[in-house]
Amino acid sequence: MAILRVALDVPLNTLFDYLAPDTEITAQDVGARVLVPFGRNMMTGVIMEVTAYSSVPSPKLKHAAHIFRDVPPLPEGLIALFRFCSEYYHHPLGEVVMNGLPNRLRSNKPFTRKVPSACQYGLTLTGRKADTSIIPARHIVKHRLLARLRESRVMSISDAKQLSPRAPKALNELITLGWIEEIPFAHPATPVPAAQALQIPVLTTDQRNAVDVIAPEIGEFNTWLLHGVTGSGKTEVYLRLISLVLRQARQTLVLVPEINLTPQLEAVFRARFPTLRLVSLHSGLSPSERAAGWLQAQEGAAEIVLGTRLAVFTPLPKLGLIIVDEEQDASFKQQDGLRYSARDVAIFRAKQAGVPVILGSATPSLESHYNAVTGRYLRLRLSSRAVKNAALPVVRCIDTRAAKTKESFSPPVISALERCLALNQQSLVFINRRGYAPVLLCKSCGWAATCERCASRLVVHLRDKRLRCHHCGHQERFPNVCPECGDQDVVPFGHGTQRVEAALAEYFPGARIMRIDRDSTSRKDAWQHMLRDIHEQRVDILVGTQILAKGHDFPKLSLVSILNSDASLFSTDFRASERLFAQLMQVAGRAGRAGIPGEVLIQTEFPDHPLYHALRQHDYDLLAQTLLEERKTAGFPPFVYQALLRAEAPKIDTALGFLTSAVAVAKALGEIEVFDPVPAQMARLKGMERAYLLVQSGSRKKLQAFLGAWRTKLDALPSRKVRWTVDVDPMDF
Ligand code: ADP
Ligand code: ZN
Ligand code: ZN
Repeated sequence: MAILRVALDVPLNTLFDYLAPDTEITAQDVGARVLVPFGRNMMTGVIMEVTAYSSVPSPKLKHAAHIFRDVPPLPEGLIALFRFCSEYYHHPLGEVVMNGLPNRLRSNKPFTRKVPSACQYGLTLTGRKADTSIIPARHIVKHRLLARLRESRVMSISDAKQLSPRAPKALNELITLGWIEEIPFAHPATPVPAAQALQIPVLTTDQRNAVDVIAPEIGEFNTWLLHGVTGSGKTEVYLRLISLVLRQARQTLVLVPEINLTPQLEAVFRARFPTLRLVSLHSGLSPSERAAGWLQAQEGAAEIVLGTRLAVFTPLPKLGLIIVDEEQDASFKQQDGLRYSARDVAIFRAKQAGVPVILGSATPSLESHYNAVTGRYLRLRLSSRAVKNAALPVVRCIDTRAAKTKESFSPPVISALERCLALNQQSLVFINRRGYAPVLLCKSCGWAATCERCASRLVVHLRDKRLRCHHCGHQERFPNVCPECGDQDVVPFGHGTQRVEAALAEYFPGARIMRIDRDSTSRKDAWQHMLRDIHEQRVDILVGTQILAKGHDFPKLSLVSILNSDASLFSTDFRASERLFAQLMQVAGRAGRAGIPGEVLIQTEFPDHPLYHALRQHDYDLLAQTLLEERKTAGFPPFVYQALLRAEAPKIDTALGFLTSAVAVAKALGEIEVFDPVPAQMARLKGMERAYLLVQSGSRKKLQAFLGAWRTKLDALPSRKVRWTVDVDPMDF
């Protein structure tokens, strides 16, 4: 009897053996989902191996209940990718595999194709040539659907339902026949500026060079670092390369850091390739939309898969190219569960598939920059803006020690905004803090509102009169008096986007102001409407957080003001400067993209800081070199490889106690640098106390070997009440 080795979503680092439910098991079933008894429940897992032998004594082996053959099994390459992630991130294989599947395929029920409402239908090649008379005449609905499709090429589900309420069933049968196919999300709601949609621009010299260098290497693994200043036209380079991949009938995976960036990019892709079969995969989709998109990718029908980090685990049988846009972005790193970096997994995946991966950025991460310096990655530069006459913006610092601010604004920034309004140009005010004010303070005793579950201040949201924790989501009502001393003088302190928006409304009563942050864009489709308003110039001043900074192209925007970024200059996090620089370059890069000269004003008390100096010069290389030297001296990445052992417990001593035992174990294993356990920067989160232990090595291989051995020993340590995980290449401490 065949034995199935099954990956299950349980935090144990092992596969589980089951007897096959029937005799017709073949190697073809590797990668199929399977329903098995586990404890007192039934669970769905994935068959990772079919063998003849189990180390579990046969009386103890249970039978698997059912093998799902509703969708094709996971391809071999994807299974190999899961194995790599499990090994590299030292995370249980079962959790890695199940984490990579859409929810619908994780459930204990067979998958039924529910038709996503945004979906459209079109005839396949077979359908176009097919002889419809083979369908019995009494199947009126099918005939009507086919006739309609021959006329109009595509139809939506609601069009179909208007023909007949039985249309969905008929559509499904025609799909099974292979005559028609789903074309998901055919009409994106985001406008594409008409000029951009129609014209294929003549490449700039830098773009031409990048395309010419990469094009002959498609079909081979290489990591290309496309290092182009903001507005240099990286997207156009992607488009040219994608068109080559499309011609080879292969698939492209495009990863972006933010769900908000997908609609705009999707629109650009569709404008360039009108018949494109593109699937967007991100957290904003319903479970059935996500599963449908995933399956289209798996069947090889989707030509482009565009998505956020989780999309890196999409099965792509005909993968030809991977693009990671804004590769420096910290959002590519998952911060709980399987703590993977989608960028790094993408690179592994490209290597495995023998295809190129392109990392695009105006400010590459220091790791990638260093890899380019040492020749592991191949750097291609785009050093000027693509649009004729669009120069990089002039960046100036406003010394707020001299030019005092009132409600966050210094006089030079106010006059610049005035100028912009008078010229009918758009401006952007950047403040990376949402809410009204970051703190609620009692003026008489100094009490500050804090979250009861986290070591953090509660943020004032004035509009709905609430205090919110931005870490755990806890909210409470605004106190009328200070809970400590009873004084009524409790006031919001500091500035967030809402307060800045209110201040602007006072300064410029006639201006049309739009606030863009996680609160204002949380409603479904809100962001798309906002984008349209910006493009159609129904907005004068944008106030926003880093959501605005990333990747967007606002042609009418000429002024960017950065209100308050000094705090990050002196952070204890060694990555703070790198991130701040990238972020400010990004925001600054929104200005003057379409030929209107751009200006960037930075309010600061430290205008002489090297970071601001590099920003004024648009000199990434200068700052990168300075930062690399600092990192080298201090022994930080990219000169060492790190991992954290994270522990959390209801009491901090429990967490630290566990880590202290882990130190002893680590030291006994030797050959690795082990630091002391320390409380995390956010020591309390959601009611749990958190601490970590850092280990590092100059050799990735040594670190990996150590982690493997260490983890086995950690599993054996007493760890009552402690939850621990290993975080490889950690980004946050
Ligand atoms: P990046 O992502 O590098 O910041 P984008 O790809 O958003 O830049 O391009 C910036 C602008 O330049 C876009 O409006 C784009 O349409 C335009 N553009 C790109 N390439 C060219 C070109 N070769 N000629 C003219 N305009 C271009
Ligand atoms: Zn008080
Ligand atoms: Zn909280």
